[in-house]
Amino acid sequence: MPRTVVVTGSTSGIGLGIARAFAADGANVVINGFGPFETIEATLQDLGALTGGRIIYHPADMTRPDEIEDLIGTAAKELGGIDVLVNNAGIQHVARIEEFPPEKWDQLIAILLSSAFHTMRHTIPLMKAAGKGRIINIASAHGLVASPFKSAYVAAKHGIMGLTKTAALELAQENITVNAICPGFVLTPLVEKQIPDQAREKGISEAQVKDEVLLRLQATKEFVGIEEVAATALYLASDAARSITGTHISIDGGWTAQ
Ligand code: NAD
Repeated sequence: MPRTVVVTGSTSGIGLGIARAFAADGANVVINGFGPFETIEATLQDLGALTGGRIIYHPADMTRPDEIEDLIGTAAKELGGIDVLVNNAGIQHVARIEEFPPEKWDQLIAILLSSAFHTMRHTIPLMKAAGKGRIINIASAHGLVASPFKSAYVAAKHGIMGLTKTAALELAQENITVNAICPGFVLTPLVEKQIPDQAREKGISEAQVKDEVLLRLQATKEFVGIEEVAATALYLASDAARSITGTHISIDGGWTAQ
């Protein structure tokens, strides 16, 4: 029986890479996120060709608790349960606190933090009933350290680190592990979109933002690869990682060593 994996925000970037890695491992995968119909159709075909299992798309908006409940319910009903939950959906907004639109603050906290609470509260009973499970939260180096102009993102990412630890303790004797992955900068649409904003805030060129802002603290001076994050998720979901819980794995090119 293929295992079933739900990856939120998997129509693009890191989530898509994680979905691809689990599909290549033979899993059923529920993908989620926004994007044009044709692109999502192509992704379904692409992932379907990698696995003997099934690939399903669910359009739940991670700001909507009712839609999140339907995502988890649909995965359970269509695929018989959830073995691995990956909370990955995310957006960014870059502005000083006094100029940060309150509705943007609410949106970031909802997508980056509250959505994981909602996916988890519906998934945990399924995992407990199955006697096993893996929950992987895609946090960030910004779950450990801050940067200016990213108040909501940094607050939400620090929050998900706390949620990860609490859930791990609650589930420690249920054969369910809960961990976070903390990537440094990965060149995905989420990062590409903030380059012009950072350039405007700091009054520098976009090339300077890449070299002097994004990669300034990444000691390797290289972006992290999507496949590196996906491989770590696959590892955390493996039997070999059964005693790893309530912690995080940094993949940040030395950023948080400083
Ligand atoms: P991305 O923009 O490529 O992908 C984000 C995904 O989330 C997309 O599939 C998008 O459709 C989905 N999404 C956005 N809003 C949504 C909503 N309301 N409901 C459902 N889905 C929604 O971004 P990414 O860089 O791949 O980011 C993925 C995760 O990795 C995020 O949690 C991000 O914070 C984290 N992360 C990214 C980096 C990086 O440098 N790219 C570093 C550390 C952590």
